[in-house]
Amino acid sequence: MRACFTTNQFDLATLDGRRALSRELSLPLVFARQVHGAEVRWVGPGSETAELPTGDALATGAVGIGLVIRTADCLPLLLADPRAGLAAAVHVGWRGLMAGVAEAAVAELRSAGAANLLAALGPSICPNCYQVGPDLAAAARQAGHVTGRGADGTPRLDLAGSVAARLRRAGLRAIWRSPECTLEDDRFFSWRAARDTGRQGGVIALEPPPPPSDRPTRAPRLPTHAGEASRLAAP
Ligand SMILES: [Zn+2]
Repeated sequence: MRACFTTNQFDLATLDGRRALSRELSLPLVFARQVHGAEVRWVGPGSETAELPTGDALATGAVGIGLVIRTADCLPLLLADPRAGLAAAVHVGWRGLMAGVAEAAVAELRSAGAANLLAALGPSICPNCYQVGPDLAAAARQAGHVTGRGADGTPRLDLAGSVAARLRRAGLRAIWRSPECTLEDDRFFSWRAARDTGRQGGVIALEPPPPPSDRPTRAPRLPTHAGEASRLAAP
């Protein structure tokens, strides 16, 4: 399995940026037409050249294609069970959070046979920076999500914290979280910092399992340094 989160080195809002990332990773990439919903779309070989699937979670059981979710402050969530040969990339903004897109992707992978899911939460806007309106804060709190208040007393939403809590509740134990805030860190595109901005992404791809003798004995390690593709050890 390979997984990474990108920086503003690649602007995935542009065709040039998408092609450059595909070349960098030596992988055909599948992107989505993201609509802030909770629909999971299965993709496979050939999807990279077909029309973009509409949905906020891409799932696959096929090796050798990269699933990519594009974000600028929203949370890119990657899920995989390398042993079962299943992976998903998920786009979680506040609408997706409220719609339950993360849980939907987990349920979809499990229904396809995933048993031990690993999760990686990429760079997103941090709760200190993510000021939201009082109505959304109240609805999120009501739904059991993590909210708080900033120094000025205005409501804040903890996107990554809320998703991590939902994943734990769904039974996931291996959850990696990026420490970066896309608004504060100028290596990332931020919709809140500049509305007319590009997109970074989260990428996950399945690889053929290694022969048994080559299997590493150490535990699977979750990604990654932003902007750099890192290879994950299969369990
Ligand atoms: Zn921040």
